[in-house]
Amino acid sequence: AARYPASRTLLRRAAQVIPGGVWGHNKFPAVLSPEHYPWFAERGQGARVQDVDGNWYTDFLCGYGTSVHGYAQPEVDAAVAEEASRGECLSQATARSVELAELLVATVEGAAWAAWGKSGSDATWIALLTARAHTGRSLVACVDGAYHGSHGWCAWCNSGAGRDSSDSSAVVTVPWNDLGALEALFRTRGPQLAAVAITPFHHPIPGAAELPDPAWLAALREHCDRHGTLLISDDVRAGFRLDLRGSHAHFGYRPDLVCFSKAIANGWPLAAVTGTDALRDAAAEVFAAGTFWNAGSAMAAALASLRLMKRQGTVDVLRARGEQFTSGLLALARRHRVPLRVSGPPAMPTVTVDGDTEHAWMSRFAIHMTAEGALVHPTHNWFVSAAHDEAVIEESLDCAARAMQRTQEEREATVPA
Ligand code: PMP
Repeated sequence: AARYPASRTLLRRAAQVIPGGVWGHNKFPAVLSPEHYPWFAERGQGARVQDVDGNWYTDFLCGYGTSVHGYAQPEVDAAVAEEASRGECLSQATARSVELAELLVATVEGAAWAAWGKSGSDATWIALLTARAHTGRSLVACVDGAYHGSHGWCAWCNSGAGRDSSDSSAVVTVPWNDLGALEALFRTRGPQLAAVAITPFHHPIPGAAELPDPAWLAALREHCDRHGTLLISDDVRAGFRLDLRGSHAHFGYRPDLVCFSKAIANGWPLAAVTGTDALRDAAAEVFAAGTFWNAGSAMAAALASLRLMKRQGTVDVLRARGEQFTSGLLALARRHRVPLRVSGPPAMPTVTVDGDTEHAWMSRFAIHMTAEGALVHPTHNWFVSAAHDEAVIEESLDCAARAMQRTQEEREATVPA
C-alpha cells in the first residue's frame, strides 16, 4: 500500500464527488483491490505511464486500445496543437473532416464515405441507424457475449443498473461461428433483419478470444445478400491494429458498414463509420449528432496518425512485438507448468488460464505484474503499441517471470497438495 499513497488519497476524495470514484470502464481493474492498483495516472510517454505517486509502468492496456504509436507521439500531438491553435470546435465543420474522409475512403476496403462521432458507442449507433434507414427494418442481430457500446440499444450486452430490457427489444443474438444458428436466424427472422453486427473476431470479456471461421463469414455474407440484410463490422477495438484497410480485409469478409474509434487518432477522441456507395443516401437521411463531433483537432490527429502508420508499417510492428511478448509468456508458463492460453491476434492478445474460472490466478498475476512495473488486465485483452520496442518487451518478460513465480508460490502455499 505504501506504493500508492497519492492514488489512495485521490480515490478517497473521488468517492465523495464522483459516483463510484472512477467513472466508466477505467474502474474495471477494480477486481484488483484498491491497495494494489495505481488508480490515477499523471502522464504517458511512449510505452509507459507514470502514476500520481511517481511510479512508472510499461502499459499493456494502451489506453484500452487507443495508443498505437505510444503515448504523446510528437508528430500526432504537433498536428493537434497546430489545429487547436486556430480554435477548437468552431461553428462549422473544418477542411480536416473532408481530408480525413478522403483518406479513409482511400484506405478502408469497400468504403465510399465516412461519418463521425466521438466514441465507439456513437459509431455502432450511427451504423445501426443507417442500416435501418436503408432497409426500412428495425431488427438487428448480434453475437452472444459481444460488446458494442453503452448506448440504450446495447442494454442486452451491459449488466449495469438502470437498464431496461425494452431498450434493446430490437436485438436478437446468435452464437459466434455457429452455422446452424445462423441458418435458423435467417430462416425465422431474415425478412425483418436490418443488420447483423459482428466484431472481426470474437473478443468477449471475460473469456478467450475466438477467430472467425471463414465458412461462417462466407455464409453470413450470403444470408445477408439473400435477405437484403446489411453486415456491420464493429471494428472499434481491432480497427487499424490488424490491417489499415480494416480488420475485414485481414479476415477476408465484405461488410456494408464499418465502425472505428479507439486507435483511429492515437488517443484523441474520434469515431468514424464508413459505408458502401449504396448506403450513401440512407446515411445522409440519418439524424445523429454531437456538439463536438466536427471539432478539428482529433481529425488532425487521425490524419497524422494514419499517415504515420502507413509510412512506418506500424501494423507489422504491432504484430511482431505482440508475438515476441506472447511467445515469451508461453515459454514462461511452460516452465512454471501454468496452463496459460493466448488467444486472438498477437497485436491484441487475450491471456487466460485454463480452469481459472473466477480469474483468481490472473488477478494475482496482474497484481504482481503491477508491482513489477507492468500493467496488464486480468480479464480484458491486452494491447501493444509501436513504442513497445524489443527492449521494452524483454524487460516486461523479466517482470512476467518474477510475477509468475510469485503467483505460483502463493498458489502452492494455499492449495493443499
Ligand atoms: N465496440 C467494441 C467492439 C468495443 O470494444 C467498444 C469499447 N470497448 C465499443 C464498441 C464502445 O466504444 P466506446 O467505449 O468508445 O463507446
